[in-house]
Amino acid sequence: MDYILRATAAGEKIRAFAIRSTEMVEYARSRHNTSPVATAALGRLLSGGAMMGVMMKGDDILTLIMKGDGPIGAVTVTADANGNVKGYVNNPLVLIPTNYAGKLDVGAAIGYGTLTVIKDLGLKEPYVSQTPLGTSEVAEDLTYYFAKSEQTPSAVALGVLMNKDNTVAQAGGFIVQLMPGAGDDLIEKLEAKLATIKPVTEMMEDGMGPEEILDYILGDMDLEILDKTPTQFLCGCSKEHIARGLIALGKQELQSMIDDGESITVTCHFCNTDYTYSVDELKELLQFARIKSASKKVGILGDDDAVNDFLGQADDSSSDDADDAPDNTGDTPQ
Ligand code: ZN
Repeated sequence: MDYILRATAAGEKIRAFAIRSTEMVEYARSRHNTSPVATAALGRLLSGGAMMGVMMKGDDILTLIMKGDGPIGAVTVTADANGNVKGYVNNPLVLIPTNYAGKLDVGAAIGYGTLTVIKDLGLKEPYVSQTPLGTSEVAEDLTYYFAKSEQTPSAVALGVLMNKDNTVAQAGGFIVQLMPGAGDDLIEKLEAKLATIKPVTEMMEDGMGPEEILDYILGDMDLEILDKTPTQFLCGCSKEHIARGLIALGKQELQSMIDDGESITVTCHFCNTDYTYSVDELKELLQFARIKSASKKVGILGDDDAVNDFLGQADDSSSDDADDAPDNTGDTPQ
């Protein structure tokens, strides 16, 4: 089972997170059919994003976008505060030569560009931060983000190890952060320790889990494990959710789809699930788009429950399209 540990050390002058994310990353690989380098890029950002997610609280939502000039396009990950995370890459099939060390070249796959961090904290405007990508190897770029945007010195390590058949053998990582008040002695001690550490996936291959990894780094600094959160790849999309996006396209767009006379299929970027809408369903959505634009004109705000009720009815009236019904169970990791 995948999980995230949250810990403190040195009398709360250090906080730390460690994750085992093997199943999450393997699930992402199988959903998106990613090439090995794309699996590594997505898996590292999923692992880092999941840990950054549990740094938030309540209904906060975190989105990380690494967009560079490399062949992968962009890597996008969204996480909540409860260990749920989802993500995708623009070009999942990218194949490039390994780097000088014989490792999957995530840095070259992503290339030069920016890391965008968006935190939706339930306020009017989300918090948005952009930092340049350094190595584009993901962990270093998150380290730079923490230093630059959150003024928090951090050590971030993320790793994905592939089996010979390109499935995921190990995935995991850690984030260790210095809190205000950490003295030079502590910083030197931590830096010396981190200098001796092996890559995360190597430690995992040696049988070390998040507990052992944190214990290795912070065991002699009064390590205290605070909690353990299960973590998983979970999209949470649905036919209704995607329909809202179609309604948002507007009346004209929907009308032109209806005029084409064919059902349309929309694919969820995050989990690669297809949702098909028959012409009759599109007509129902058009009707809703009309109601929405009319109610906007008289100043009535749209009601999400009304969308659900409406779509619920639409589903009932098209029971002969049972084959097109979304398989919602397909969104949950097996
Ligand atoms: Zn989805």
